[in-house]
Amino acid sequence: MKISDILKQNEVTLSFEVFPPKTDALFESVEKAAGEIAALKPHFMSVTYGAAGNTAANTAELAERLQTQHGVAVLAHMTCVAASREDVRGMLQDYKRRGIENIMALRGDIPKDGRRSEDYLYAVDLIRDIREFGGDAFCVGGACYPEGHVECERQSEDIAHLKEKVETGCSFLTTQMFFDNNVLYNFLYRIREAGITVPVLPGIMPITNARQVARSVALSGATIPQRFRTMVDRFGDDPRRMQQAGIIYAAEQIVDLIANGVNHIHVYSMNKPEIAAGILESFSAILGR
Ligand SMILES: Cc1cc2nc3c(=O)[nH]c(=O)nc-3n(C[C@H](O)[C@H](O)[C@H](O)COP(=O)(O)OP(=O)(O)OC[C@H]3O[C@@H](n4cnc5c(N)ncnc54)[C@H](O)[C@@H]3O)c2cc1C
Repeated sequence: MKISDILKQNEVTLSFEVFPPKTDALFESVEKAAGEIAALKPHFMSVTYGAAGNTAANTAELAERLQTQHGVAVLAHMTCVAASREDVRGMLQDYKRRGIENIMALRGDIPKDGRRSEDYLYAVDLIRDIREFGGDAFCVGGACYPEGHVECERQSEDIAHLKEKVETGCSFLTTQMFFDNNVLYNFLYRIREAGITVPVLPGIMPITNARQVARSVALSGATIPQRFRTMVDRFGDDPRRMQQAGIIYAAEQIVDLIANGVNHIHVYSMNKPEIAAGILESFSAILGR
């Protein structure tokens, strides 16, 4: 099912993100975890993709299995930073053959060695090709950055580039993680003012261990509110308490978002069924379950 239709049909939606294994040996354990998350019956699940294309086969395989064997709609990510147009054409044929209808079209981070695709500079170029090669077969999503993308100095320019992506063929946008909902509300105000009207899915990252703060939070460039800092200071050394505190923090963000009319929630569940279940439980009545 196309994600644009899922978003139209349901007032409140919940989706979970998983990542594929880097090696085939780990496939089974990742599929097991992803399958447990699928059993929670999210409206859809997304499967990420290595920037240089190194997980391409596992992304496609995991996405297909989630859809056919675990019964959940999927959004398969695809990056273009190291891809040729022929690679993309081949991937699209493969996705189509597997019955994958939704693609998150991304550029990917620029590799450390600086080597870039000769065909693709930005995600918008990939979106254009998905439309050219795939027509209406795919529902396409794009990434957006409530605090601005790290490479773009002015947020107004970042928003202009975002608008170009949407006009080229994105049906929805998913945000980078953020820990202060006011950041999202300001961003939504600015993009709506710029004429971007597609649904925006806030990406919520439950921070459940202190190492994550240094790794993913620092990399994302997200502002860390004092309330969040205090939580990590207090519970960071105790894994059980930190996990519970992180789930509660994320759940509070979600309840506030829905109360303010932001209804389509995407959770970076990081292949952790217990975290996905904890989040779901905290607002199941709001979801109508
Ligand atoms: C929801 C989400 C999911 C993600 N999933 C993955 C994943 O599965 N795998 C992965 O490797 N990475 C993933 N990423 C990370 C993403 O690949 C990086 O953030 C990357 O650096 C930018 O990708 P993009 O698609 O947003 O790029 P773009 O939209 O191309 O933007 C990149 C930069 O280029 C600028 N820009 C865009 N168009 C133009 C233009 N025409 N002229 C000048 N500048 C321009 C933008 O302002 C921005 O600064 C994800 C990010 C998000 C938010």
